[in-house]
Amino acid sequence: MARVYNFSAGPSMLPEKVLKQAQAELLEYGGSGQSVMEMSHRSKWFDAIITDTEATLRRVMNIPDHYKVGFFQGGATQQFAMVPLNFMTTGKADYIVTGNFSNLAAKEAAKFGEAKIVASSKDKNFTYIPDVNAIDYDKDASYIHICQNNTIFGTQYVKVPQVEGVPLVADMSSMILSKPVDVTKYGCIYFGVQKNVAPAGMAIAIVRDDLLGHAADNVPTMMNYTTLLAKDSMYNTPPCWCIYMTGLVLKYLENDIGGLANMQKINEAKAKVLYDYLDGQDFFNNPVEHRYRSTMNVTFTSPAPDLDKKFCAEAADAGFVNLKGHRLVGGMRASIYNAMPAEGIDKLVDFMEKFRKENA
Ligand SMILES: *Cc1c(COP(=O)(O)O)cnc(C)c1O
Repeated sequence: MARVYNFSAGPSMLPEKVLKQAQAELLEYGGSGQSVMEMSHRSKWFDAIITDTEATLRRVMNIPDHYKVGFFQGGATQQFAMVPLNFMTTGKADYIVTGNFSNLAAKEAAKFGEAKIVASSKDKNFTYIPDVNAIDYDKDASYIHICQNNTIFGTQYVKVPQVEGVPLVADMSSMILSKPVDVTKYGCIYFGVQKNVAPAGMAIAIVRDDLLGHAADNVPTMMNYTTLLAKDSMYNTPPCWCIYMTGLVLKYLENDIGGLANMQKINEAKAKVLYDYLDGQDFFNNPVEHRYRSTMNVTFTSPAPDLDKKFCAEAADAGFVNLKGHRLVGGMRASIYNAMPAEGIDKLVDFMEKFRKENA
């Protein structure tokens, strides 16, 4: 069996050790005589799994007690609607648009109230993050929404908005658990799990207590954060397998990696190898303003679109898959999430240099 280096933006690689553990426990979980895929979500085994998964997330991310944690279906995209439905109490909110997903989030919010785009980096094709201190925020905004790492354009925030009395809501889908985050800076953090945590099929939301309980009566039951958060994510059948896998990945982060500070060091070293290579030659180009470069999603182009195509094809043959850039950007994108081994990036850089020599 030859596992490839998968540079997909999501779903993406999972740690091999975790996959092997899931494999070992697939037919029978912990003396239960059944698979996690088969067991009742009300069983004592699953109760232990979900309780432990939440507790581990709280430890790993250092989440204070006055924040609730919930496991939601519908992906990060459903959160785009849940955020305004639950938090837009003044009828308006501020959105910073730094790419595709923050744009979608703003559009969704505009269905429910005034979603004011207070800053955007569209003028330079989303290659930078607007200065968050220079923005004219609305004092009556219910919240400020950002996308902390822009998966498609390969940018990330260096500093996040902090406005007295206005909660910050962040989509962290493509950088969650890649480094420590000060949860207390946020009113709500949400993320789809398929980039950096688990298989596809779930989003996790971390919500500060005081933001809950203000949704209108006609908000659908499953779109109201309180429904799940008041019932420890067990109002109805939760995505059991996804929660189990999340638990395994979190334990791996905690015990094998040694926590998020270590994960950050590893991720920054990995990204540096690729960016240093990109900066040291002039065949491939990364368009992002350097200080906003994403540690997770690295975009680059070759001198011509047909060479990009050739690169992706030859890379796939050599075992580096899913390097094609998003259709909005073109070129290439290497998503180098937590589970991408350093070796995968070293080898990719060797391959890029070989391709450059052959095609320059
Ligand atoms: C992938 C992604 C999404 C969409 O997630 P789904 O779970 O597919 O809905 C939203 N935001 C960001 C930042 C993403 O990277």
